[in-house]
Amino acid sequence: MQTITSVTEMQTRAENLRGEGRRVALVPTMGALHDGHLSLIRLAAERGDTVVVSIFVNPAQFGPNEDFAHYPRELDADLKKCEAAGVSVVFAPSSEEMYPKGYSTYLAEEAVARPLEGVSRPAHFRGVITVVAKLFNIIRPAVAVFGQKDAQQVAVIKKMARDLHLPVEIVTAPTLRDADGLALSSRNRHLTPAQRQDALSLSQALRRAQAMVAQGEHRTDRLVAEATHILSQHRRVRVIYAALVDRETMEAVREVRAGRTLLVLAAWVDEVRLIDNEIL
Ligand code: AMP
Repeated sequence: MQTITSVTEMQTRAENLRGEGRRVALVPTMGALHDGHLSLIRLAAERGDTVVVSIFVNPAQFGPNEDFAHYPRELDADLKKCEAAGVSVVFAPSSEEMYPKGYSTYLAEEAVARPLEGVSRPAHFRGVITVVAKLFNIIRPAVAVFGQKDAQQVAVIKKMARDLHLPVEIVTAPTLRDADGLALSSRNRHLTPAQRQDALSLSQALRRAQAMVAQGEHRTDRLVAEATHILSQHRRVRVIYAALVDRETMEAVREVRAGRTLLVLAAWVDEVRLIDNEIL
């Protein structure tokens, strides 16, 4: 496994891989890798023949009062996990390498990125799609893998790729959960055992809504009310949003359409901001 920190070196390496006829599969991450990331790496290995993992805590996607400074960073452990998972190249640039002094170009997607996360984190997706577009330009992967855990993120990236005619296939990987149902996230390590117990209400609310749909409930107000009720029974939980949306457009829907409608949740568990979702 090779670790690369320079943009030009990564461009040269990627060009050589393409020259050898390799189908490069990219997994963009912010590091602090967990089993969810490793499941993306496994899917990337199935869809391509050379896996490149990027590890970059992207300052552009954090708001001024968000957790950029506190975001977990553990590159040595991440490199070991990547090596064990059969990754060919880890691209781990510094902030200065990606955003040199005087950097001033940003991308915006103006529909899918607007609601939900776009409301509470206004510059978030501008940062996400800028860095993803930069990674696509540097590495020029044939395929890139993203997690359904960040449902709006993958929808925005798919829209950007389509709108900009980017020659990359976007693959979505299912959400990996702990045995108790909590969706794996690098932010979970900030939870105390008591907070973690309350955080389980997100996956409980999602499961309850799925059960209601299985029993024939298709009225969105009933489903949202029940999910919100479950979340609000936990002392440390503050709901940011609970909504039924179309999985591609992120627009609110009136009726559940099987396989297309997502229940998306965001909540504060004390000071930790968590998101989760399920396809209904
Ligand atoms: P992050 O490092 O949090 O930016 O995540 C990198 C990628 O891993 C994103 O595409 C996420 O959607 C994905 N991811 C994060 N957590 C999970 C999970 N529990 N299951 C599947 N994919 C995940």
